[in-house]
Amino acid sequence: MTLVMKFGGTSVGSAQAIRETAELILNAKKEWGSVVVVASAMGTKPIKVTDLLLEGATSALSGDAETYKHTANQLRQIHYETIDALLTPEGERQIVLAENNLFITRFETLCKAVLVLGELTPRALDTVGGMGEQMSVRILAAYLRQLGHKAEAIDATELIVTNSLFQNASPIFEQTVPKTQARLQPLLDDDCIPVVTGFIAANEAGITTTLGRGGSDFSGAILGQCLNAQEVWIWTDVDGVMTADPRIVQNAKSIPVLSYREVSELAFYGANVLHPKTMRPCVENNIPLRIKNTFNPSHPGTVIVPDNGSMNGGAKAVTAIKKLSLITVEGKGMLGIPGIAARTFGAVAKANVSVLLISQASSEQSICFATPENSSDTVIKGLEAEFEEEIKRQDIDRVWAIHDVSIVTIVGAGMRGTPGISGALFTALGNHHVNIIAIAQGSSECSISLVIDGKETAEAVNHIHEVIVA
Ligand code: ASP
Ligand code: MG
Repeated sequence: MTLVMKFGGTSVGSAQAIRETAELILNAKKEWGSVVVVASAMGTKPIKVTDLLLEGATSALSGDAETYKHTANQLRQIHYETIDALLTPEGERQIVLAENNLFITRFETLCKAVLVLGELTPRALDTVGGMGEQMSVRILAAYLRQLGHKAEAIDATELIVTNSLFQNASPIFEQTVPKTQARLQPLLDDDCIPVVTGFIAANEAGITTTLGRGGSDFSGAILGQCLNAQEVWIWTDVDGVMTADPRIVQNAKSIPVLSYREVSELAFYGANVLHPKTMRPCVENNIPLRIKNTFNPSHPGTVIVPDNGSMNGGAKAVTAIKKLSLITVEGKGMLGIPGIAARTFGAVAKANVSVLLISQASSEQSICFATPENSSDTVIKGLEAEFEEEIKRQDIDRVWAIHDVSIVTIVGAGMRGTPGISGALFTALGNHHVNIIAIAQGSSECSISLVIDGKETAEAVNHIHEVIVA
């Protein structure tokens, strides 16, 4: 029986956290026989090592010769403090310190190169950004060895083969599966615990790529598929998936069971629970996924199960994505002309920007859609180029954007066939004078999304949450 357990940044964020994590690993090992560990970079709130690494490199790009040096010191402090507290001097302390130092020195060298060249490619960002995981797994594996168990730190660059879409690479399973099995199965057979870096992978040429921010969850699921694991557990710092972000909604609660579809929808709409791609390897291979709290391990957390069609319970959770723009393509000449929508989204795709919500009124005089605010300029320019002729002819009057909007999404498979839910939501918002700019409902009826002014996000989420838990 093989269990894959992924630990997030806070679960390896301090010496104490690592001790507790090790205990969870060893308990699971007793029960399951084979355990594969996937770990994120260290994260102590509010500092995340991955952020530090990426910000350090970005600051160098802007010509700042000081910040990255300061960052390197911070990185040393965080990692050394943890190593000193965990590993004994007569054991592996010096070795692991030296290994970690090597990464931090490499980080400084890369930042210096960025500073001098004035160039920071996505490829370089992946090399820099993935170092946090390379450091944390070395600490955790050494600590497990110190406790008398076989454990080996492994860079996922040895296991997961991806395309070359740096910063958001996708695995090529035909190569990943045999490579992972060949490397990890002998370790498992030897009773050893592989401690694998989350987040990173390598392209076919062996160059480091990353699976996107928050991608360690996805790493766990990928390894689960490769090893035919019985379950994949995502250990985090909350009691599973919550009805709302507890930082915004005080009485947010843990949701015991969710379907794959509900979780995908939640993740897509910004709930920071699971990396959105995590689900797919699990769904396709029928592997149950559990989300549990390292700091409250006896809490059952949330189990994510296949969609069984008998979901009830109406709306289950509310979530929000901020910092979006709502872009509108508008014109009286659009009426009945086929192909405008296709060309609109073709232009957005060409700009490599993803669309989070689309809405078109039946008058066909406008199409609007939401994209991240920081890509709205690129998108508008792309659209103006695509529709140059139509704009000249005034078939399209304008392409414009409302900035600083949020999408608030209510998720629950049980909303299907439960009339009155949207009514209750709109009433709740209307009563509190929250203006709704646009609305979209997926045909799955598993979610309803509302676009509102970004400044009203917290208020809207709270009022909707009251309807959900009522
Ligand atoms: N460390 C990476 C990040 O912060 C991956 C992860 O934690 O899942 O995005
Ligand atoms: Mg995460």
